[in-house]
Amino acid sequence: MRRSWLLLLLLTVLVTSPARAEPQYQIEQMKDNVYRLTAGHYRSVFMVTDAGIFLTDPINDNAAAWLRDELDQRFSDTPIRYVAYSHNHFDHTYGGQEFAAEGVTFISHRLAREDLVRTRAETQIPDLVFDDTMSVYLGDSEVRMHYHGTNNGRGSVSMTFEPAGVLYVVDWIVLGRMPYKDLKGYDIHGMIDSTREVLNMDFDLLVGGHANAGTREDVEHYLGYLEALYAAVRDGMLQGKSLETLQEEIHLDDYSDLAIYEEWLPLNIAGVYRTLNDSSYMDMRSDLES
Ligand SMILES: [Zn+2]
Repeated sequence: MRRSWLLLLLLTVLVTSPARAEPQYQIEQMKDNVYRLTAGHYRSVFMVTDAGIFLTDPINDNAAAWLRDELDQRFSDTPIRYVAYSHNHFDHTYGGQEFAAEGVTFISHRLAREDLVRTRAETQIPDLVFDDTMSVYLGDSEVRMHYHGTNNGRGSVSMTFEPAGVLYVVDWIVLGRMPYKDLKGYDIHGMIDSTREVLNMDFDLLVGGHANAGTREDVEHYLGYLEALYAAVRDGMLQGKSLETLQEEIHLDDYSDLAIYEEWLPLNIAGVYRTLNDSSYMDMRSDLES
């Protein structure tokens, strides 16, 4: 009887514990005039100059309202001048209307804007788009935005903050953690190509839209994982192996330090397998046994 009461108590604690609590909001100064906003599993960055504030992803309505209050308190004399979306996905771009006002310019890649319009996304639609690169100069700082081709979603770009040397990338580079589950919406080889391009750029600190910030070395480790994952799944498919066999056989132990490795490796494998069938028609190739 006593034991069952204890069990009931334990269950009650487990059920009511804050596993799904409100997202934790936080602002950290990452380097010089570049700050990171954390909202649960999501992150974005912003830059503060004498001439105004440059924001990136608002993340969602609640995060944006919280950020706006914080900016009002911390930098009350500094107006918000720009909001730039990293890509089209709603779970990073919602909340934009919180900052919509005279004198605030919203920016995204052309493809991200097109998608937000077509899908009737309920956030502020960008006023200004670009195709390859765009620089915004604000005070003594610059934000350089760069499109690297398809990688995740539509119109996903990197943003370099100078002179701080901070690079912001969302979803297609994740440091210290496995790429998300079964890679929904990802172009796996596009991620590899884009990450290779990033490693040819100048930066001291990479801040991701999820998980950790890190150095060039961390980005190299991440790229190594993507390349190894892609090669292992491709080679197995060339040998006619099923997804289930690949999920049993593929182990990438050099990367077992990445958070959620055990749980998400089979899902990552499934994602690459699906991508190779959808994009490269591996399942329709007459030279391969099915
Ligand atoms: Zn994301």
